[in-house]
Amino acid sequence: MSSVHVREQGVWFEDASCLNTEGIPYSPYSDSQLKKIEKAGRLCYKSEHLATKESFASFIQKRIEDGHESIIEHSFLTFRYITNRAISHELVRHRLASFSQESQRYVRYSEGNERKKFQVIRPFKYFSWSAETQNEWLSTMEACFRTYSNLLNAGVQPQVARDVLPNATKTEIIISANLREWRHILALRMSKKAAPQMAQLMTATYSILYKYYPSVFYDFDNQYLSLKDVSMEL
Ligand SMILES: Cc1cc2nc3c(=O)[nH]c(=O)nc-3n(C[C@H](O)[C@H](O)[C@H](O)COP(=O)(O)OP(=O)(O)OC[C@H]3O[C@@H](n4cnc5c(N)ncnc54)[C@H](O)[C@@H]3O)c2cc1C
Repeated sequence: MSSVHVREQGVWFEDASCLNTEGIPYSPYSDSQLKKIEKAGRLCYKSEHLATKESFASFIQKRIEDGHESIIEHSFLTFRYITNRAISHELVRHRLASFSQESQRYVRYSEGNERKKFQVIRPFKYFSWSAETQNEWLSTMEACFRTYSNLLNAGVQPQVARDVLPNATKTEIIISANLREWRHILALRMSKKAAPQMAQLMTATYSILYKYYPSVFYDFDNQYLSLKDVSMEL
């Protein structure tokens, strides 16, 4: 049996207060966030008296169209990602976001430990590769992990042994950012120029954000890769 576990990427919405009992975000929370944004925005124009039960959506969309985007910084959202180390390296370049990532210094990958077993993320379009190419990739992953384990057994610390692990190594990362920064991240990372696995993750993020914050993410449709183009290959 292979010592390497190949898995898919994933995205989860992490704000407990936004989730219903099935772990799905629900709109009363996002509506309250959007009302807060409207309140902040209307303060600028002293038009608080014009706010109605539903006015937040059109008010916010209009401000974004005007370029008055700072008002959406008042809402902050958190997502958890499972991806590979290469993609996580790109994610952490977004300086206005906050991050917590699984450490390769303090986590010692080992076969006998379910939570710490060595996992790699399946490459993009892996199933379109020939069996020979898939086998070559897999045996390279196994060789890396074998060397890592041998180094640990020889007394080398995980923080040093990790040097031999591949970019495909699975990592978990929690990212929090305000809505303005999420718009910026999506604009860059759903683009056709983005790495395909990044575009997959961000398209999945967008589909959650659009569902609950349509007035903030109204202008992303059609500009970027469609869900179909980057759909996860499960
Ligand atoms: C298609 C693509 C290819 C890339 N290729 C490479 C590459 O080859 N090599 C490489 O090193 N990186 C590369 N990057 C990463 C890129 O350079 C940025 O580091 C990354 O996209 C984060 O973008 P950002 O700085 O706009 O965003 P954030 O860090 O999220 O910042 C958001 C915004 O805040 C403002 N801001 C933040 N910090 C400052 C500051 N110090 N001064 C002024 N304004 C600031 C800017 O307006 C910025 O756009 C690539 C990114 C993409 C999307």
